[in-house]
Amino acid sequence: METVRLGLVGIGKIARDQHLPAIAANPDFTLAATASRHGSVEGVTGYHDIAEMAAACPLDAVSLCTPPGGRYEQALTAIEAGLHVMLEKPPAATLSHVAALEAAARRANVTLFATWHSREAAGVAPARAWLSDKKINAVRIDWREDIRRWHPGQEWILAAGGFGVFDPGINALSIATQILPEELFVEHATMDVPAGRASPLAASIAMRCGEAPVRVEFDFLQTGPQTWSIEVDTDAGTLSLAMGGSVLTLPGEEQRTEPDREYARLYARFAELIATGQSDVDVRPMRLVSDAFLLAERRTTDSFSF
Ligand code: NAP
Repeated sequence: METVRLGLVGIGKIARDQHLPAIAANPDFTLAATASRHGSVEGVTGYHDIAEMAAACPLDAVSLCTPPGGRYEQALTAIEAGLHVMLEKPPAATLSHVAALEAAARRANVTLFATWHSREAAGVAPARAWLSDKKINAVRIDWREDIRRWHPGQEWILAAGGFGVFDPGINALSIATQILPEELFVEHATMDVPAGRASPLAASIAMRCGEAPVRVEFDFLQTGPQTWSIEVDTDAGTLSLAMGGSVLTLPGEEQRTEPDREYARLYARFAELIATGQSDVDVRPMRLVSDAFLLAERRTTDSFSF
């Protein structure tokens, strides 16, 4: 396959922390341009937005690292320019937008890849394999992190369409929908929304997986130790995934830890999807978020500033 000429869009935290090193390490991609209003990458031609970049620079694909709010318009512009598109999670602000992008990509005969980076964490595939023939008795999901530490100054995250604590929380749901052998359903939810903001800083969700209760706690105000863990009680003991899916402990076994290769795996998959003319769009994590927002009892809490 020819090298994929890639445009990277939205040069912010995740673009710098993960996308740039993963692209540099993958010989299938050449970083040909960036589109960002304020950010740039040394040695790479920068444009203000996708339309300008697509008109001026020969590209095969774009990877969007912007917040979900503007993704639909950005992705549609890229698809209509005949470019393959990789989306950061969550794939767009609404499910209708994701469906419309899927249809547009099909019409344009380009690849659309809605990524879920946490599914690429080292423990997720072995957890899914181990759980596939077990009876699930109960599931506990705890995703508690400090918004000020991991999302400094990201006002968009607490605006409408920013997902609030569901921005990290959807990573837990992307893992749960991948490893559990039955579909998940939301039964009840409460959300704490700070005064003057649109999106929650904390959420508790009661879900069900078959007969098994699934308790979910998301908290964006966790100081001290940070927790990204999923525990699954089964007829063969308790499986534990910690550190966002990278550390797996199975009953009676030593803890398994491997180096982080989440974004390396995402770009390898994007190259494979482009080469084979396929798309990969799984909205199940986002559907659960949407259902939680539909069912939630909302409480207004103290105002919040970064
Ligand atoms: P960020 O630091 O705020 O960067 C996003 C970039 O997108 C900004 O630098 C901005 O660049 C551009 N942008 C375009 N429209 C924007 C708008 N309306 N508001 C704000 N910025 C806008 O955010 P991030 O943490 O990289 O997150 C981006 C996406 O990656 C989110 O969907 C998030 O869920 C996902 N993600 C984040 C992390 C993480 O640890 N931070 C991890 C995994 C996934 P210009 O101003 O230059 O256009």
